[in-house]
Amino acid sequence: MSRLLLKGARLLDPGLGLEAALDLRVEDGRIAELGKGLAGRPGEEVISLEGAVLVPGLIDLHTHLREPGYEYRETVASGTRAAARGGFTAVACMPNTRPPLDTPAALGYVRRRAEEGGVVRVWPVCAITRGLAGRELADLGLLRRAGAVACSDDGRPVMNAHLMRRALEYAAALGLTVISHCEDEDLAAGGAMNEGAVSLALGLQGIPPEAETIMVARDLELAAATGGRLHVAHVSTARSVELIRQARRRGVPVTAEATPHHFTLTEEAVRGYNTSAKVNPPLRTQADVNAILEGLADGTIDVIATDHAPYSREEKEQEFAAAPFGLVGLETAVSLVLDRLVHGGVLTLAEAVARLTVNPARALGLEPGRLEVGAPAHLTAVDPDRPVTVEAARFASKGRNTPFEGWKLRGMAVLTVVGGRVIMRDGELVV
Ligand SMILES: [Zn+2]
Ligand SMILES: [Zn+2]
Repeated sequence: MSRLLLKGARLLDPGLGLEAALDLRVEDGRIAELGKGLAGRPGEEVISLEGAVLVPGLIDLHTHLREPGYEYRETVASGTRAAARGGFTAVACMPNTRPPLDTPAALGYVRRRAEEGGVVRVWPVCAITRGLAGRELADLGLLRRAGAVACSDDGRPVMNAHLMRRALEYAAALGLTVISHCEDEDLAAGGAMNEGAVSLALGLQGIPPEAETIMVARDLELAAATGGRLHVAHVSTARSVELIRQARRRGVPVTAEATPHHFTLTEEAVRGYNTSAKVNPPLRTQADVNAILEGLADGTIDVIATDHAPYSREEKEQEFAAAPFGLVGLETAVSLVLDRLVHGGVLTLAEAVARLTVNPARALGLEPGRLEVGAPAHLTAVDPDRPVTVEAARFASKGRNTPFEGWKLRGMAVLTVVGGRVIMRDGELVV
């Protein structure tokens, strides 16, 4: 087991309220010592982190690892490398694989793959309904015991309100979070982008904002009635932000996430028919982006997640209407958060870090990582000022479908440590 001394960083732990310039020593996979001017010991690797900020390991609570079944898009090995490269030490992976993660055996397969070839922690999310078919509940109790951190039919909504109500009832009893992909399939059917002036100009069928907001409203009502913990995935509309804000004020047990693409881009990114900007829910208007930024700032949206969704080149090189929805996010998220939100004056660095660490942990009912002696050494360092240019060719992900190619951003993850082991340094994997 490697021994590490991380020197010269500013430590920032929003959960503990810690912000201090301290060195941090790691032994046997755990934080062994915090202090000023710690001296290196024989056999210890010393890493200088001058100018960087060391935080508890970042968590992405919405990743598609694509394994089993779609290994040509991503694998547990490649997806966890992308996570590490982006500064994440843990990912919650979605169950829309082939077969879907709706049995303990399927969950076990992903966990084994993670143990064999994964480089960050992998927390499987199980299906809400058998086969993600929306007809009958999966055995949520069994799946919870098999290690599911949450349940979701992500990629598809649970259209049947009765089933969603029962899922939230079970989830309340099991302490399991229900992650809702809020989309009314009938309202969204056939759509390829946001419905509005741009879809009209491009001659593409639109997805109206109500396709999302109606389901957000429904699920908030059901969470209020059942006491089941609800997490709203990928909020894309201003009205959804307002509905969630009102529900939180009433004490409804709801958390919500925004993705970097939804707080950065508008439907204008679709002009030119760039299929890397085709995502579900779709990129919306500037008014929606502004509302999401306000929701992030006031804590209505308490989690930032990537919805990392890799596809092959062939799949994305179809005409716009036929191409699949989704984009890769693990290797651009931290830079977009630092550039757009922190340097953009939307969040303090501590607030941004909370939305990537303590808040996603709590949304899943997990204990957050901490920068204290004895805690497991899952750590991330970010340099808020180091410039970076997005180059998909350098991604560890198999997916190249990013709408941010060539963007110059300020700030990046510079170190990823999982269980005391250095996985990424200065943007390069070291495994
Ligand atoms: Zn989704
Ligand atoms: Zn997703």
